[in-house]
Amino acid sequence: MKLLEPGAAILAALSRRGALVFIVLCFCLPAFTFGQTKIAPDHVYLNGKVWTADDGKPVAQAFATRGERIVAVGSSEEIRALAGPESAVTDLKGRLVVPGFNDAHWHFASLKDVELDDLTSLEAIQKRIADYAKSHPEEIWITGRGWGYDVFPDRVPHRKYLDAILPDRPVFLWERDGHMGLANSKALALAGITRDTKDPADGRIEHDTKGELTGELKEGAVSLVTKQMPKATAEQSYDSLKRLLAKASSYGITSLQEVSAGLGPAEMAAFERVLGEGQLSVRFYVSVPLAKNATTEQLAEFKRLRDTYRGPVLKFGSAKGMLDGTVDAGTAVMYEPYTNGVTGIPFWTQDELNRAVTLYDREGLQVMLHAIGDKAIHMALDAYEYASKANGTSGKRHRVEHIEVPLLADFARFKKLGVVASTQALFANPDATTLTNYAVLLGPARASRANAFKLFDDAGAVQAFGSDHPVFSMEVLRGIYCAVARKTPEGTPPGGWYPENRITVEAALRHFTRDGAYASFDEKEKGTLTPGKLADFVVLSDDIVSAPPEQILKTKILLTVMGGRETYRRDSPLP
Ligand SMILES: [Zn+2]
Repeated sequence: MKLLEPGAAILAALSRRGALVFIVLCFCLPAFTFGQTKIAPDHVYLNGKVWTADDGKPVAQAFATRGERIVAVGSSEEIRALAGPESAVTDLKGRLVVPGFNDAHWHFASLKDVELDDLTSLEAIQKRIADYAKSHPEEIWITGRGWGYDVFPDRVPHRKYLDAILPDRPVFLWERDGHMGLANSKALALAGITRDTKDPADGRIEHDTKGELTGELKEGAVSLVTKQMPKATAEQSYDSLKRLLAKASSYGITSLQEVSAGLGPAEMAAFERVLGEGQLSVRFYVSVPLAKNATTEQLAEFKRLRDTYRGPVLKFGSAKGMLDGTVDAGTAVMYEPYTNGVTGIPFWTQDELNRAVTLYDREGLQVMLHAIGDKAIHMALDAYEYASKANGTSGKRHRVEHIEVPLLADFARFKKLGVVASTQALFANPDATTLTNYAVLLGPARASRANAFKLFDDAGAVQAFGSDHPVFSMEVLRGIYCAVARKTPEGTPPGGWYPENRITVEAALRHFTRDGAYASFDEKEKGTLTPGKLADFVVLSDDIVSAPPEQILKTKILLTVMGGRETYRRDSPLP
């Protein structure tokens, strides 16, 4: 049994200090220090399979919590013996308990977009948008999210499909990766975009063969339209945050890492309000922007946030930058062209990046760089290497986000440089867009090592899993299934997509728990079920560790606990 309690800790310290001091102090210490009269746990959980993610004690039957912490992990007999008359007792009935899930790459979406990612035809998208517009006459702009290229004839999105359903209200629909979108003619007109509008430096306005606008806007060009949209109010942000907290808890999530490069004033106000109400039921690690030329004032503000919000519920400390776009849009930066001839849109030069990363590294801020193409990933690693040499720093745990198609030679650099690999389990979902657009654009050699989580594990990297919500669902169990099976939930393709890149359930669980905690410098506080750590855990309906992968999709979250407090309980509860 592993046990940590005030008495035990004091005894351990005393044993080093000689008998005399010990005996003298015995009379002064409160009675709870010893034997029968120690403080009982608030809650004991017995007769389960406790998967701890702690290599020192990987599996146990039971554990106990007091306040917001785990105080003991062991056999059911050992833990039962700790219970007092006031202790709550839960019989887990053999159920699996794992540490609370940590989604290491997540975005707060404060405006509600119409969700389209479950739709597989253009007609279904048109119908949902038209129905939504009809039932929301008060909303001027109609925005949606989650389409894939495969729904359009010849994989060519066009504004005419939106004009056909809504000719006189502006519509903008984000593609599933959130790096581009499709605008209707009204939205383009409101944004003042014509066939002659020049591309911004960091984006592209698409045209057809006759030079007419298609309505497709990529990367930085998207902002021409989005800046016309009304901003979320503080009230909307508050409602969204409450809704997302409830959703996250229902998926077993107890920690989220917000990587949007800063929160707007309405969003920050929402976080502070919920925190003040004591209702922040998920722990947050929030990023600030990695500015190209950060001013002294900006840096001072970032450090103020970091020093003000130090956890364990709300914490700042990272800075996010974007080096490239996505594979599906052909904007992720590659050494060799995609099969359509383009090589991507770089947002930084190596010099700019080295300078910015070195500055943030010196100021003690963790840097996270979105890099998807092999060239962008290489640039990110080079910048981290440059900064640590220039500053003589180490152990800063800088991160690369997504890392979808690295050079084979770059896998080993993560461990060597101490860089965290922040990958997204559901990115390996081999759906129609992945197979008919993503893999085709990459070509077979690069597709075979895309989102290859196994290669990071083999290279000894710390790999933290995330969702990239709202790009993908934040359902952790779906993510685990995808990483383990490399199949769609429907079971395709048979045998899995590049099945040599599959990982085990236990590896996926570690990436969603203790590796996420490491990625935000919180491994001493959470990420494993270990005495002394925060009582963040999930009870599952099924033992996904030993069940076949298909069972993961049928598994239900029964109970989510954050800091000893229930944040979700399914209707058919534990006794
Ligand atoms: Zn993201």
